[in-house]
Amino acid sequence: MEPAESRFVACRACAEIQALPPPKAGYDRKCRRCGETMGSGLVHLDLAFPILLAAVIAFIVLLSLPLQRIELHGRHAESGLSTAVSGFFHYGMSPMALFAFVCIVFAPMGRAVALLFVIACVQTGHRPKYVARVYRFSETLRPWTMLDVFLVAALISMTKLRDLVRVEMTPGLWVLIGLVWCLTLFDSVLDRHRFWDFLEEPADITPHANAISCLFCNLLQEPGAPDGIAHCRRCGAVLHRRKPDSVQITWALLLSGIILYFPSNLYPVFTIVSLGHRNTFTIIGGVRQLLTSEDWPLAVIIFVASIVVPLVKLIGLAWLLISIRYPSVRYLRANTQLHRVIEMIGRWSATDVFVAGLLSGLVMFDKLATVVPGPGVLAFGSVVVLTMVATMTFDQRLLWDVAETKRE
Ligand SMILES: [Zn+2]
Ligand SMILES: [Zn+2]
Repeated sequence: MEPAESRFVACRACAEIQALPPPKAGYDRKCRRCGETMGSGLVHLDLAFPILLAAVIAFIVLLSLPLQRIELHGRHAESGLSTAVSGFFHYGMSPMALFAFVCIVFAPMGRAVALLFVIACVQTGHRPKYVARVYRFSETLRPWTMLDVFLVAALISMTKLRDLVRVEMTPGLWVLIGLVWCLTLFDSVLDRHRFWDFLEEPADITPHANAISCLFCNLLQEPGAPDGIAHCRRCGAVLHRRKPDSVQITWALLLSGIILYFPSNLYPVFTIVSLGHRNTFTIIGGVRQLLTSEDWPLAVIIFVASIVVPLVKLIGLAWLLISIRYPSVRYLRANTQLHRVIEMIGRWSATDVFVAGLLSGLVMFDKLATVVPGPGVLAFGSVVVLTMVATMTFDQRLLWDVAETKRE
């Protein structure tokens, strides 16, 4: 028996309170005003649990399996899930090592285990008080799970090494492909917004101007005491009508990102040192190398992920912030869509970061061949993190607010 769904929800992008149509298979419910997706509304717990369990088992297996094996003049080396972390760490780039650890190991594993626990609680009917917080924790980790990006990086790193060493695929790579597939499938059988109702059925309120919606669990509720800080009664998150200081914080993050974008393109992301020869690669240099070796598909992927995506993020976010300063009702829907695109593509710009980490952790053949990460990767990684956080701190509802005031 499925729990009831709230009759009214406020759109996360435009704040419009509305009733959602009943869920239908293969159909994505959208906000009637701004077009923001509200999720499919479908939760298949019977499928979600085994898929996730398979993912966790695959992850544990993967921790002990190599992804690639290389050979150079009789010397062998293997890469694994933690190679990018150890590579950055070895060359004293601990912030990048931490980033790689969070995105490749901690966030995917933490999210999967937390979700397994929450779904098991729902299925057994045993709901400890903290279960909503555990689910909120898994949702916080979600944007930082980047196993799919890491998989693409692993494939790219293999082609980069082809001229230098003998590269072999190992079964671990197939397990990684299976794991990424399981996680993608999981997201399609469990609507993460609707799942909140399975943790605690919403108590419906009649919408009114003072009602406040939780950005985490979408529960529309009474604002609570006017003086103290109000917490969501379902998930415990702090409630804000609008994210505090959203514009200032987003500008600060964005400007830092823009400043770091220049060194990230000017300095090398990594250097291949082989028998005394040094071959440095900047981001654009990496694309050029793939083009000369006629690796068209990979060249396109790296060009899009490392050059187009960061630019779209920087220019797009600047445009959204300027749109709040100079409001217009004309581009509201387009701006909401732009924000969604930036949110979706943001993580893919981490591809080159993982390539640099993987190569530097894998190719450690002393004088024969080594790959050393360059300062460019530190700057580029910072741009990725800054723009991702800026996308989160930006409150899209402000776009619609200023437009409303203008219309009045
Ligand atoms: Zn909306
Ligand atoms: Zn909540």
